[in-house]
Amino acid sequence: MPELPEVEVTRRGLICAVGKTVTAAAVRIPRLRDPVPDFAGLLPGLRLASLERRAKYLIWHFEDQQGMPAGTIVSHLGMSGFWRVWPSPAPAPRKHDHVDLVFGDVTLRLNDARRFGSMRWTTGDPYAEKPLCDLGPEPFSEALTPLGFWQALQKTRRSIKETLLAGSAVVGCGNIYCSESLFAAGILPTRSASSLTKKEAARLLTEIRRILAEAIASGGTTLRDFHGPDGSDGYFALDCQVYGREGEACPKCGRLIVRIVQNGRSSFCCPGCQK
Ligand SMILES: [Zn+2]
Repeated sequence: MPELPEVEVTRRGLICAVGKTVTAAAVRIPRLRDPVPDFAGLLPGLRLASLERRAKYLIWHFEDQQGMPAGTIVSHLGMSGFWRVWPSPAPAPRKHDHVDLVFGDVTLRLNDARRFGSMRWTTGDPYAEKPLCDLGPEPFSEALTPLGFWQALQKTRRSIKETLLAGSAVVGCGNIYCSESLFAAGILPTRSASSLTKKEAARLLTEIRRILAEAIASGGTTLRDFHGPDGSDGYFALDCQVYGREGEACPKCGRLIVRIVQNGRSSFCCPGCQK
């Protein structure tokens, strides 16, 4: 499943369309998770002014020919979605190629086998509307301080693992990144979030940022075929220290990594290194 780093790498792959005007669009499916708007009627003639990311959403801002805001797509990859960039004309669509956005000489194509992705259209301020208005802070935002992160952790009775997954204190920690960042910070996933000291919260935030940044950087190299016809589906494997390594030796202390289940989700941790 695509996580924040994949979405950020995807955004970087798609910014080749920023500044270009939509010349055609095709929607081959009535709905993904939600109904897909009539992009063939909405978009041609509009210019993609910017492409932003917020958590795992891409925010596509379009302008009219006078440079006035015309509307915004808020898209999500769901469980299995990925975008590809083709030189126009793109080849005949293959199975699950549901949406094409044609920007003259490049075509952006969405493939989504499981159809849990979404593409919404709004003419309002997308950041003031659901789902974006409900999201926790971005991990790389300067507005997210160690103290602010610690304060957010004080507000819940849940475990630190569940709190990170919920995304209220910071977005971007899916199941893998939870296990990896808690291991790197030396914190057991079962600890209550409110039990973290300011120092522990600061260390955890540092590790979350480091691990997400490394994943984005490695994705940039893994995805060097992003523009080619035979690239992978765009997801990349993180070089995990503990995730998926139950029964293997901890890379720091040699004790065996254990798997625990919290709220139906697996956590991997080292009982020697994590307190
Ligand atoms: Zn260990």
